[in-house]
Amino acid sequence: MSDVAIGVDVGGTKALALMVARDGRVLGEMKSQTPHDEGFGAGEATTKVLVEQVNELCERQGLVPAQVPVGLGLPGMMRRDGHLAFAPNLQTASGADLGAQLSEALRNSSVFSENDANCAALAEHEWGAGRGIGDFVMVTLGTGIGGGVIADGQLVRGRSGFAGEIGHMVVQARGAACPCGGHGCWERYASGGGLHRMTREAALDGRLATLVDRSGGDPRHVRAEDVTAAAAEGLVEAVTLLREVGWWLALGLANLAAILDCGHFVIGGGLSSASELVLPAAREYLVDLVEGYDTRPTITVTTSMFGPRSGAMGATLVAFEGA
Ligand SMILES: [Zn+2]
Repeated sequence: MSDVAIGVDVGGTKALALMVARDGRVLGEMKSQTPHDEGFGAGEATTKVLVEQVNELCERQGLVPAQVPVGLGLPGMMRRDGHLAFAPNLQTASGADLGAQLSEALRNSSVFSENDANCAALAEHEWGAGRGIGDFVMVTLGTGIGGGVIADGQLVRGRSGFAGEIGHMVVQARGAACPCGGHGCWERYASGGGLHRMTREAALDGRLATLVDRSGGDPRHVRAEDVTAAAAEGLVEAVTLLREVGWWLALGLANLAAILDCGHFVIGGGLSSASELVLPAAREYLVDLVEGYDTRPTITVTTSMFGPRSGAMGATLVAFEGA
């Protein structure tokens, strides 16, 4: 049994690899750009980067790559057989079995794959904000929204492995178009990508007049980061927009609470820089949006302990468990 494992969170833009000891100590870290090269077989360009990461992390510790279990956290619908069935944000790897490709390249039989948000849920459950909590939902706010559902202390995988695709709950009938092909998906309203889209709309609508002025007068030049920074300074129009994102976040959480009766939500992912403004609004709105709020025990909405590292941390748990 190995004392260390490598976990890689393969995102749409970056791949974060961590070498982690069984007790959760991080021993090494490496971040790379995720390639989107066309013209290779599905997943081949991605696998090349993963090979470099595993080799590098092992070399630093004087370990042999073939003997260290590896877990991959992948962005999209992961079939139980390890194939990435559908990945709107990593289309060049859609359909590929990255675990099998990496296993072959490294001559390492211990490579295991899982959905990235499921990995994050496992990490928070084992070591982080969900420790000792039997029923919670991990919500990762990045380009989209990922979800990992822990019920009765177990990760819910569903029939094919696709459970927890919470970002594609429809919260607005015939709403904003989504990369999944649908319309009105939750992630178009409450993620980093959602904030970006809503910033654009608000600027064009004249609801971000001060920020448009500061950006030289062209509404198309106002960025989501400008909204976050201005809201932190207290600019009312920016605070209002982030509170709107908080309302949309609360709407999805209320739907999840109605279905699952989960008492806790752990919020992670790259929108965390905005979370100080979005989460208080979400907690406030949740009171009205969730069915029978007063008859339920308190519902908590907390930030993840590992932030952007949750996915890679959890991928190491998948590796430990599989090896
Ligand atoms: Zn969608």
